[in-house]
Amino acid sequence: MRVVRAGKLIDGTGEDVQLDRALYLENERIADVGPGAQIPENAEVLDLREYSIYPGLIDAHVHLVFSCSTNALADVLADDDQILLLRSVAGGRQALRAGVTTVRDLGGRGGVTFRLRDAIARGIVAGPRIQAAGSPITITGGHCHFLGMEADGEQAVRGAARTQLKAGANCLKIMATGGRMTPGTNITVAQYTVAELAGAVEEAARAHVPLAAHALGTSGIRNATAAGVTTIEHCNWLGPDGSIQFDADVARQMAAKGVAVVATLTPLQRAAPAIRDEILGCMRRMRELGVPFVAGTDAGVSVTPFDRLHRELEIMVDNVGFTPLDAIRAATGGSARVLGLSSVGTLEPGRFADLVAVDGDPSVHIQDTSAIRLVMKSGETIAENGVLLV
Ligand SMILES: [Zn+2]
Repeated sequence: MRVVRAGKLIDGTGEDVQLDRALYLENERIADVGPGAQIPENAEVLDLREYSIYPGLIDAHVHLVFSCSTNALADVLADDDQILLLRSVAGGRQALRAGVTTVRDLGGRGGVTFRLRDAIARGIVAGPRIQAAGSPITITGGHCHFLGMEADGEQAVRGAARTQLKAGANCLKIMATGGRMTPGTNITVAQYTVAELAGAVEEAARAHVPLAAHALGTSGIRNATAAGVTTIEHCNWLGPDGSIQFDADVARQMAAKGVAVVATLTPLQRAAPAIRDEILGCMRRMRELGVPFVAGTDAGVSVTPFDRLHRELEIMVDNVGFTPLDAIRAATGGSARVLGLSSVGTLEPGRFADLVAVDGDPSVHIQDTSAIRLVMKSGETIAENGVLLV
């Protein structure tokens, strides 16, 4: 019998820290959780009493095929799928070392991320568990059209969703507005009607996968909320003239329907301070209105590597009003629930033994989430003191 003994345990459900607990492992999973003082003498114990333990983190918004460079667009246009695949292997390893044991990839090309996901699951290469959307669905010439899945009209959107699911997608992504990365698209204007988005919502529901909608502009946020997507990515509330136009009614509908926001605040830190602060203000209002938050970084875009989820949680605490435990829950158990992942996200019986041990106490100081001593995935220690062992 293998046991992990934790000094302080944050289980990812949002519950308070528990002192001196024992996680009983059975192969890859947690079989039981009990008091540290009652561990049987014959057990093989990994003693982490000096540390705080939290569940392996979930980054709900990454792009493993992107280069994180200031030329992320030029890189993806210039490189072939083989290079993208190798780049995604490296990005996955970077995430793992930072305690990110699950990612939702919201935009790749040519099935590259499906191949990586399957190779990791088969043990061919090390990396996080991956929920992969494949190519995002966008209008002709729309945001990220270069990733290869343009569709106009409700029937074509449904067809595109089915094509991605057939190719292996276990989540879906649709572009509800233009994006900053794609020249010629309008970030403030809706790309799709409610009917088109609702087609994607229905196809995702049929396949029991979550649907992410990229939306920077308020009109796109409104349409995505009306259609009932699972998550809205970025959610910057930009009006037609580029100024911030927060719509409290739409935010209330998000809260009522359980439409979650993935705010991707890490790359936003590079925006002009005035607009950044206004967007952070919108995030605080959404939180006050009860909109659920799920943590995601948009890793892969300019100067946002795959090891920055800790930074995202810090911004949520420092600028959006989260308690440290709430922020951690948004990257663990709360995220898993929104994304429909029942085998990760919390340190409860039946879940995979994915966990992170850190110095200090992240329930008090959120920065301590990055003071990583050890990362475990599927019951195996895969990183120690910043060094990957796999
Ligand atoms: Zn993105």
